[in-house]
Amino acid sequence: MLENSLSEKKLKIVQVAVPTPLRRTFDYLLSNDINPQDVQPGMRVLVPFGRTRQIAVVVGQSDETDIDVKKLRLVSKVLDKKPILPESIIKLLNWVAAYYHHPIGEVYRAALPVHYRKKESALEPGVTLWFLTDLGKDADWDLLKRAVRQRSILEELKRSPEGLTREQIASEQEGQWQSALKVLVEKKWLVTKVQENNSTPYRPGNAIGKNPGLQLNTEQQASVEALLQHDASYHASLIDGITGSGKTEVYLSFIEQQLKNARQVLVLVPEIGLTPQLIHRFEHRFSVKIQTLHSGLNNTQRMKIWQQVSSGEVRILIGTRSAVFTPMPDLGAIIIDEEHDLSFKQQDGIRYSAKDIALVRANYADIPIVLGTATPSMESLYLCQKSKMSHHKLRQRAGQAKPPEVHLIDVRGQYLQHGISRTLIDLMHQHLDKNNQVLLFQNRRGYSPVLLCNKCGWISHCHRCDAKLTYHQQHNRLRCHHCQTEQHLPAQCPECGHGELSHLGIGTERVEKTIRALFPGIEVIRIDRDTTQRKGSLQTMLERARDAQKQILIGTQMLAKGHHFPNVTLVAILDIDQGLYSIDFRAPERLAQLIVQVSGRAGREEKKGQVVLQTSHPEDDILNSLLNEGYMGFAAKALAERKEVLLPPYAYQALIRAEANKIEYYQLFLEYCFQVMNSSKQHLPADHDIQFLGPVPAPMEKKAGKYRGQLLIQASARKNLHNIINDLIKTIEANKAAQRVRWSIDIDPQELY
Ligand code: ADP
Ligand code: ZN
Ligand code: ZN
Repeated sequence: MLENSLSEKKLKIVQVAVPTPLRRTFDYLLSNDINPQDVQPGMRVLVPFGRTRQIAVVVGQSDETDIDVKKLRLVSKVLDKKPILPESIIKLLNWVAAYYHHPIGEVYRAALPVHYRKKESALEPGVTLWFLTDLGKDADWDLLKRAVRQRSILEELKRSPEGLTREQIASEQEGQWQSALKVLVEKKWLVTKVQENNSTPYRPGNAIGKNPGLQLNTEQQASVEALLQHDASYHASLIDGITGSGKTEVYLSFIEQQLKNARQVLVLVPEIGLTPQLIHRFEHRFSVKIQTLHSGLNNTQRMKIWQQVSSGEVRILIGTRSAVFTPMPDLGAIIIDEEHDLSFKQQDGIRYSAKDIALVRANYADIPIVLGTATPSMESLYLCQKSKMSHHKLRQRAGQAKPPEVHLIDVRGQYLQHGISRTLIDLMHQHLDKNNQVLLFQNRRGYSPVLLCNKCGWISHCHRCDAKLTYHQQHNRLRCHHCQTEQHLPAQCPECGHGELSHLGIGTERVEKTIRALFPGIEVIRIDRDTTQRKGSLQTMLERARDAQKQILIGTQMLAKGHHFPNVTLVAILDIDQGLYSIDFRAPERLAQLIVQVSGRAGREEKKGQVVLQTSHPEDDILNSLLNEGYMGFAAKALAERKEVLLPPYAYQALIRAEANKIEYYQLFLEYCFQVMNSSKQHLPADHDIQFLGPVPAPMEKKAGKYRGQLLIQASARKNLHNIINDLIKTIEANKAAQRVRWSIDIDPQELY
């Protein structure tokens, strides 16, 4: 009797991550009808939270709590039969929340496929799903004017062609929805189907290879051998290989060994790097199941892939940054292609670096990680210097290809036809006459970025941003590239009524128009965000460009990455000067990477390529060190400079951003942050070197109608930086000063605005 009541007193408490902006987990009690064994970390539970109910993830269990037990609430329901997140991912997500100082519940929420954020996964086998019938789709819904609930159910199902569970329907409906559902079934407008199990388990010993790899050259062979020396424990390697040196072949050989060892492999690629060509090479080489995760998928597709990867059925997952959170039970290695690419850093919400998370994940899992690029980031080169990463170089182009020749076109004193010099036009003719392709790079969309009144000097500004409106000729509209505001092109100056407005500056549309006029009869393809909005259009254009001859390609950043055009022999960057003078200390690195990456599109096969850069600053240091000493010469110089002035990677930064409806609000808030941190500096070791830069207005202070400011914190010891931010957040959360602003913290910011 006594024993019984004692054991009853033993508390069963779970810690859960609830999607809320609070930076902590919450304790809940398990009621007696829930067996504690049935609630494991990584399962979802339904919990009462304030006046709502939330889906939360269990992250821990215990017998005790710091909270008054009487105040603890009960878990309403356990939603999963087994954990959907394994312990390794829980550990990783906890690290992410702590390192990025982000609310843990939001981190868990972001890591789960959307379907799991609703009560029950619509894709679990055995679950009953509701669908619209054809009869229901074709019915005249207007007749339901007074049957509000029927109509609302129909509309919800229309939005979810993949079907909804009864609980999912319930979560969006109010009142007498059950009877409405019944009526709809009687009308035969709805049907139910049971979700089948569509995943086939992986069986080790299945064939791996389909086609043999290429005969590796000496450099490739040496890299593969070096990688294989650490194929079963944590080790970070950098494959620093010029474009076309055969890095992908190196990854493939390394992956082959992982597959033979019955391991899964995660390959992270930049957003635009996920080309059909890359996927094709993987599928050509291996017979295991390969899947890709990227932003073009709908929620159901994502969920299916997530399940196939977590079950071990998919052996190679190729994905963009968020794929780094996918559970992989047999993960054996991580590859990050184009590791220098900015798209691995998320620029809103949780501002995480998928590259850094991947390094931590590999470390926790004790597996190798391989970073590859032609233009290593300063951070990676620094890790190599400190022997925390091994550095493998590929300096020859694989196969027959020769590296391109690069030179500058000095445009000072030259007449430019809409940004194109005579020298360049002549060169283009030479290359086209040999039936080759030419690629023109201009990193700006639209026709022209500035509209100017010749009489009064009026300029087309966005009224919601500190930015100019770009003219898009195709739609004859002015557009803001920062807030999506649009307006008609004015026929005359809105200030003085003058009829003559000039277009200043050059965008890709203008380049296209000029080129079509200069090269009649030659095919021109423009690839930028405007021409590739329709699904599949990018792919169609890339295919048309792939084996074409006598063709001119015009493009933005989108064309700089990963694509392979065998017949391109001339690449021109029309305006290099945009990148030369910037307030961001990373601008030279980005410019050098861009030049090298764009150059890499030229002369990839037996045809030798040529690269030209139009500039009015041919004497510039960066350009010359890059041209004379190559990327590595440039990088050595850039690193030395950063070391001298103590900038990353020799120091650590965090950026606090705030935006508000009024300038004073963000100023007051950031000033308050500054004061708080300044006083908590006293508690740091005496040799700390915390520095503050700001508060200052953001480089674009007004954006989409909000005013924005920022405060940069820098230190040479990461720990000090994190301590001071932890203190700050505790103070902010307890204070009302934060209520009038939207604020965020960016750890290791990559862009200082
Ligand atoms: P990277 O990823 O470094 O840009 P890729 O792996 O895409 O280079 O290789 C560039 C081109 O060279 C591809 O067409 C590839 O098929 C070819 N290639 C790579 N390795 C070899 C090799 N060892 N022998 C012949 N061709 C190769
Ligand atoms: Zn005017
Ligand atoms: Zn705007």
